[in-house]
Amino acid sequence: MRRGKPTLEAATPKGASDPITAALKEIRDSLASDSSGALATYIPQLAKVDPGLFGLALATMDGRLYKAGDADVPFTLQSVSKPFVYALALADLGLDEVLSRVGVEPSGEAFNAISLEPGSGRPLNPMINAGAILTTSLVRASDPVARFERIRVVLSAFAGRRLEMDEAVFTSELETGDRNRALAWLMRNAGSLRCGVDETLDVYFRQCALLATAADVAVMAATLANGGVNPCTKAVVVPQPVAEHVLAVMASCGMYDSAGEWLLRVGLPAKSGVSGGLVAASPGQFGIGLFSPLLDAGGNSVRAAAASRRLAERFQLHLMHHPGRSAPVITRTGSALTLQSGRRRRRAERDVLQAHGDAIDVRSLQGDIEFAAAEVVLQSLGTVPAGARWRVLDLQGVSRLHPGAARMLDAAVLELGSRGVVVAVGDPHRRGLLPHAAVELPSPEEALEWCEDALLESHGASLAPDAALKPEAHDVLASLDEEARTVLGAAMPAQAWGRGDRVLAADDEVLLLLLSGRLGAYASGQAPDAAARRLGSVGAGTAVSRWRPLDDGRVSPTLVAELPCSGRLLRRVQQERLEREHPRVLARLWRQLASQQE
Ligand code: GLN
Repeated sequence: MRRGKPTLEAATPKGASDPITAALKEIRDSLASDSSGALATYIPQLAKVDPGLFGLALATMDGRLYKAGDADVPFTLQSVSKPFVYALALADLGLDEVLSRVGVEPSGEAFNAISLEPGSGRPLNPMINAGAILTTSLVRASDPVARFERIRVVLSAFAGRRLEMDEAVFTSELETGDRNRALAWLMRNAGSLRCGVDETLDVYFRQCALLATAADVAVMAATLANGGVNPCTKAVVVPQPVAEHVLAVMASCGMYDSAGEWLLRVGLPAKSGVSGGLVAASPGQFGIGLFSPLLDAGGNSVRAAAASRRLAERFQLHLMHHPGRSAPVITRTGSALTLQSGRRRRRAERDVLQAHGDAIDVRSLQGDIEFAAAEVVLQSLGTVPAGARWRVLDLQGVSRLHPGAARMLDAAVLELGSRGVVVAVGDPHRRGLLPHAAVELPSPEEALEWCEDALLESHGASLAPDAALKPEAHDVLASLDEEARTVLGAAMPAQAWGRGDRVLAADDEVLLLLLSGRLGAYASGQAPDAAARRLGSVGAGTAVSRWRPLDDGRVSPTLVAELPCSGRLLRRVQQERLEREHPRVLARLWRQLASQQE
């Protein structure tokens, strides 16, 4: 088990002012007067609890916790422990091995039924006692003491805090648990239980007597819903496939003989226990923990089951629920003719992009992309406009690309490659979602810049990264006459910057004519680190100015050399001197600059 550094503490929202706490409270209040059902008495100690207790908690994938009622009152997990111990066995032995020892078929019978496969003695599923007892025996450990300790440690990791055992409940069940003993002997006799009966039951009864609150149980369920990562502590408790498998078995078998109706009405994987606990999860969304000790005839908590049903209805959480129509997955299609990158370019480059920009095709995607949305994208990717040689895939607005959908899209990227179309991905989240893309850049604009550079290079219109333009080849100077160039050449000394240097850092630097390299423009005051917003960039042959009339009034961005740069710099003193000595040259320069910026 890997433990990450806890980054987000479970925080309880204050008051009932938020709609989630309000819903939990309302559901609790509306069911509080229902005193139907009975306490479990076959474990005498369980009959001593206050039947009025009723708590609900919901834990999110960000580790936030919402609670109502007695959500912090500890109860013994009993059968709520079963899915989590099953998870441990799966993590230890793998699905196939565990499956060969414990089935996954709903029994349609009570939790303590003798549901064993004829002949092999293999229990039907791990959510009923027979299967759970056998599952416990599968947990890897050198002896029963170590086995229980591992179970306690892992269940504690699911909960995000150390769980203690209730000695009285343990002893009570040890003294009275003859039915479980009988089940274990039957499995032992059939050869399915390979450990000793007493040692196995000792560990099993201890695991059932572990104490947790509804809030703990919500976090345990949220850990399953979160792919095995505890959302509060960030600890990786079990691998993601294990979490998925456990939820699947909870969905089909978690509610014993009411599992079918539960799936029909509530539609969430769940597990109940005879102390009145109930755990349920919505994959990728949340976990809930409920506690109310009065049980129906099937051994499920009356109020916890009813509350789960209301919650699922209220928030439309049924697994089979149609998710509803979403906004279009493709938000933008275009080419480098109609969409512009953030690069300021010299005329020669602009001309080539104007003439050949349709060779770069841009698609922006958005939303949560699963199979159906990916299929729509595939259709669109398949239609490559004639002459397109580059394609920008803008994933900035994609909140999630389902792994299966990512594989579909990556296969399309590979196929485009075989047709000579180079794909550049822009993704600020740097998720590496499409490994066959030629490049992944931190924004769609940069991906477009990258494609533009490639297009320019293919037309011989790009400047080598280490090459510098001659001053007279700079767009601004080229449009002035020889005399003006000489005056400006004298007034604007050459300057060079190393990669990472700030350019136009001093207030008196009013104009830069860039002759080589490239500048990145970042939101004012930001350093160009991973979090900084890159607004655009400036290429050789263009100008940047801080001269007020050309400034658009906003705070100037921070300019940083992304490559070694060189250029000509005009400082305020020289500008003032030009005003006095060569006002006409200066006026022409400003006119040129104004027209460049249009
Ligand atoms: N410890 C209990 C038993 O084995 C657990 C059963 C349950 O919670 N349904 O009988």
